[in-house]
Amino acid sequence: MVNDKLTREQEDYIIKIFEFEESFGITKLTDLSKILNYSTGAINDEIKRFEKMGIVVRIPYKGIILSEYGKKIAENVTRKHRIAEAFLYYVLNVPWEKCHLLSSDMEHAVNGQLEKYILKKLKNLKQCPHGNPFQITNTKDEKKLLEAELNVSYIINRITFEESDILIKYKTFGILPGEKIKILEKNEFGALVNTKKGKFILDNDDLLIIRVKE
Ligand SMILES: [Zn+2]
Repeated sequence: MVNDKLTREQEDYIIKIFEFEESFGITKLTDLSKILNYSTGAINDEIKRFEKMGIVVRIPYKGIILSEYGKKIAENVTRKHRIAEAFLYYVLNVPWEKCHLLSSDMEHAVNGQLEKYILKKLKNLKQCPHGNPFQITNTKDEKKLLEAELNVSYIINRITFEESDILIKYKTFGILPGEKIKILEKNEFGALVNTKKGKFILDNDDLLIIRVKE
């Protein structure tokens, strides 16, 4: 295992850094501190440790990105997170918007034999309830909603940034994997979209987080 020596807290950091990077291309430390609810001082100390361990690389004045080694670790911890979410959602019937948060206690235990039993129970399932594949590299044939054409109907493929308030909003808006979405209007700040629940305004971050396919 590549990440035997990581604490639970460090695994949580890496899952979030991976989500930031996949969604927005980089992790800004101020954003990470807001989302994880740690002081910027605590975040800085941890990131320094990650730099020494060769997990992240600092981009001056911008933020951090995962190294190749960091990506391998992220692949492993993110897979465990997504498998735990799928178990909570499909087996324990935890609501869609809650399984991300509630998986944090369980995901660290998804290992070895237990992982095999969970996957067997989940049959042929290959992604979390938010559409994110267990194997993180498995994301072909999709585009960011930001790149979608106007007035063309797309199928929502996945939500790349999992946070309770975002998931609650998307559930209300009918933005769930497998549902349809269409951009009606677009400007520099975001877009007006249409889903089965009605018309909603999304900002540019939303347009990066929501991935669609034709
Ligand atoms: Zn998920």
